[in-house]
Parts: sequence; structure tokens; C-alpha cells
Amino acid sequence: MQPMDRTQDPLEKQFLEGLTQGQLLIPICGACHKKHWYPRPICPFCRQPVNQFEVSRGRGEVYALTLMHVKDQPSQCIAYVTLDDEITLLASLSGEQLTRACIGQKVELDIASSRAKASLVFKLMNSEKLNSDD
Ligand SMILES: [Zn+2]
Repeated sequence: MQPMDRTQDPLEKQFLEGLTQGQLLIPICGACHKKHWYPRPICPFCRQPVNQFEVSRGRGEVYALTLMHVKDQPSQCIAYVTLDDEITLLASLSGEQLTRACIGQKVELDIASSRAKASLVFKLMNSEKLNSDD
């Protein structure tokens, strides 16, 4: 079985192009105006076609996480992140303090890592960033 070519799906392609340009695009339904995750052609709430995205600030907090220790490699952290946009998505966490990552911790999109992996990576925010508005 061939692996799915993610670039063949128009919504997935648009999402990945957004990541390449440094934007986290969240699908939003033009009919009921609800956001949802993941990108899909039909709204999960009202079953209408979806072809719009909204740019997220890429900030949120850890809802749940698990830490994996891998032989001869750095530890990896997989988390559900609830964005300020009220969307919860599965992502990887990056940072030097992964073993201290905890539920409720503030995170922001790590655009360089997300771009490189073509998947969502969030970095743990430090307290200095928490007080900044940008
Ligand atoms: Zn809808």
C-alpha cells in the first residue's frame, strides 16, 4: 500500500502551504462559522462544504501530553494542545525542558520545526514570553 500523498488533498495542500509561509491555518466553516480540526472538506458540525481558513496566532496550552524516551535519541514529547482559538490538536513539543513539560503550560507554534517536519510542533513558552503580547 502506497503512503498517502498529503499534497494531493486541496485543503491539506493549502494548510501545508500556510505552514511553509509561517502561518497556522485553521479551517472555518462558511455556513455555521465554527472552527474545527483537522482540515476536511465537510464541516463536522453542519455537514456543509468547507473551503475557508483563518490564521491562528499559534498560541495555546498543553491539554495532555506523553513523554517518550528513545534509545540513543533525545526524548520526544507528544501533546494535545488547546489553542487560544479553542481548537485542540495533536502536536509534538520542542524545547530543552521537555521533561518538565506539564498540563496547562503555555506553548506557541515552533514554525521552523513545523515547516521542516511538515507537521505541527509547538515550543514551550518561558515566563518572559508569557508577559509579552507579540
Ligand atoms: Zn458548519
